[in-house]
Amino acid sequence: MIQQTLVLVKPDGVKRSLIGEIIRRFEQRGMKIVGLKMTKIDSDFSKKHYAGNIDKDFYKGLENFITSGPVVAMVIEGVSAVEVVRKIVGSTEPKTAEVGTIRGDYAHASLEYANSKGEASKNLIHASGNLEEAKDEVAMWFSIDELHDYKISHEEHTF
Ligand code: ADP
Repeated sequence: MIQQTLVLVKPDGVKRSLIGEIIRRFEQRGMKIVGLKMTKIDSDFSKKHYAGNIDKDFYKGLENFITSGPVVAMVIEGVSAVEVVRKIVGSTEPKTAEVGTIRGDYAHASLEYANSKGEASKNLIHASGNLEEAKDEVAMWFSIDELHDYKISHEEHTF
């Protein structure tokens, strides 16, 4: 039941100074950050992380985007964390993402608009899509000694 999932604040979120706001939304729901770092990835790492998207028309734009600046990577732990985090993040396209989600509150452009410019959608965040992906991505981005085992008060009151 308690799961770990990978979240990235993408380069647009970092450059828009939304790191704190994004982290706040996960903390607000009582979820625990067990790993956190800022890093800049290269083209090879992008191909590893987005292996499932390599054949997509938008991949080149996506690689350009994700390697364009630093990202903040974090591992979030909580009850059904994979599903709950995706819900907090919102659906892929900012235009149709629900208001109240991170993508729905801080972005608005359509995928069509991104495509017309040959760019990836600047949708602020990556979050693992399912439990298997979460396990792979946590291991890809964090070594064991970068993940921390500690208690937060929510484990008594919220978990
Ligand atoms: P998500 O990040 O919501 O899991 P995907 O895994 O489908 O979405 O896509 C990875 C990323 O590629 C998206 O977050 C977005 O930045 C970009 N993207 C997805 N689909 C498109 C598209 N049709 N046009 C432009 N960029 C896209």
